[in-house]
Amino acid sequence: MKFLKRALIMFTVFFVLFLSEPFTAGAAEEAQSPVYYVRFSGQGLNVYADPSLSGEPIAVLPNDTYVQVIFGPLDYLVKIRVYETGLEGYADMRYLKRLDAIVNDWDMYTYEEMEEDILQLQERYPELLHVNMTGKSADGRKLYELVMGNEAAPERMLIHAGIHAREYTNPYLVMEQLEQCLYYYDCGYYHETSYRELFDHMAIHVVPMVNPDGIAISQFGESGLRSPELVQTVRSCYEYDVAAKRTKNSYARYLARWKANARGVDLNRNFVTGFGIDVKASQPSYAGYTGIQPFSEPETVFLGAVTLLCQPSIIISYHSMGEVAYWDTVESRYTDINTEFSSYMLSLVPYKRMKSETASGSYLDWIYSGDTPVCSITFETGNTDCPFPMTTQYPKIWLQHSLVIQAAAAYAYVH
Ligand SMILES: [Zn+2]
Repeated sequence: MKFLKRALIMFTVFFVLFLSEPFTAGAAEEAQSPVYYVRFSGQGLNVYADPSLSGEPIAVLPNDTYVQVIFGPLDYLVKIRVYETGLEGYADMRYLKRLDAIVNDWDMYTYEEMEEDILQLQERYPELLHVNMTGKSADGRKLYELVMGNEAAPERMLIHAGIHAREYTNPYLVMEQLEQCLYYYDCGYYHETSYRELFDHMAIHVVPMVNPDGIAISQFGESGLRSPELVQTVRSCYEYDVAAKRTKNSYARYLARWKANARGVDLNRNFVTGFGIDVKASQPSYAGYTGIQPFSEPETVFLGAVTLLCQPSIIISYHSMGEVAYWDTVESRYTDINTEFSSYMLSLVPYKRMKSETASGSYLDWIYSGDTPVCSITFETGNTDCPFPMTTQYPKIWLQHSLVIQAAAAYAYVH
C-alpha cells in the first residue's frame, strides 16, 4: 500500500511541477523547490498579506492545495506561493506538509514502516542524520536511535516514544517532528536562531519506538509476534489477568490494550529508582508488572544505555493519553531547573500540569535521580482511550506538538 501511495505522490509532484506550468527556465528553477500541500486545516488555511497573520485573510486554501514555501519558517510563520494562482502571502507552517515527505502513513504506523522510513531518511539526509541500532527487543526487532545534528554538540536532547505498546501514535509523531526539522534544516528559524545553529549547539537523539514488540501485539494481536514462546507468554498473561480479575475484555480487545513488552513487563516500571513500589501485577501481564529486577528487559537496557551515553540535558517523553504533562517527581533532584523549563514547554503545548508522584520504577524517576542535571517533560497525547484512531486524534496532536523539538532546542540555546 505504501509503495502505491509513494508512486501516486511522485506522479503528483511531476504533474504539479511540469505540466501545470509552462516548461521554461523559471519553471525548471521552481522544480528545485519542494511542493507542499495544505492539511489539517478544517475550514481552510488562512493566508494573510501581513506577517503578523492578522486582519482579513487574502485567501483561504482548502486542504490539498499545493503551495511552495518561499521564506521561513520563523517559528510558525512561513511565506508561501500558491501554485495554481501565484498568490503570495503568509500562513501557519503547521498546516503544510511536503508532498514527497517520507514519514507519511498515519493510519496505523507499524515498526516495519518506521524501519523503511529510517532507511529513506538516512538516504535523503546523510549529512544530517545518523542511525544507531545497538539493541534488540525480546522478539528480535532492532531498536533504533536516530541522531540529528552535530553529534559532538555541547548539549544533547533525548526524545523517546512508544515505551507503552498501545500508545503507538507517538512514534509516528516523533518521526514526523524529526523529518520536519530535516526539511527545514537550512531555512528554518526558531526564536531568531537558525535550525542549523540550534542543532549545532544541541544534538537531537530520538528513540522513536522503545517497545516495538508490544506495539506489534497491540496492532496485530498474536500474529504480530515472531516467537512461539512469546505467544505462549502472552496467552499466560491473559489467563492470569482474567483469573486475577484484572481484565474483562475479550482476548482480542485485551491484546489491543496491551501496554507491556512481549515478555509481559511494563517497561516504565522496570527502572531502578523506586523499583517494586506500588506493584500493580505480581506476574507478567498486559500492564503494571515490574519484571524480576530493574533493567531486566532489553528495551529498558537500550533506553538506559542511550541515556547514559548521551547524557541529555533535556528529555522529552511521549505517552498517551489525557492531554496532561508530568514534569516532576517527589524525589527529583532537579525540580528547580524543571520549573522554568516545564512552564516554557507548557506555554507551547497547553496541557494540564500534573502533580508530582512518588518514585515507582519509571524512566522519569530514574533520570531525576541521576547525576546529570536534566530538564524534562512527559506529554500525554490524545483525549480518548488507547489505542486511539489516528485519523481523528492525530491532527490536533500534530498542531500541538509540531514545534516541540525546535522550541526545546531554542531553550537550551539561551540557557
Ligand atoms: Zn504510557
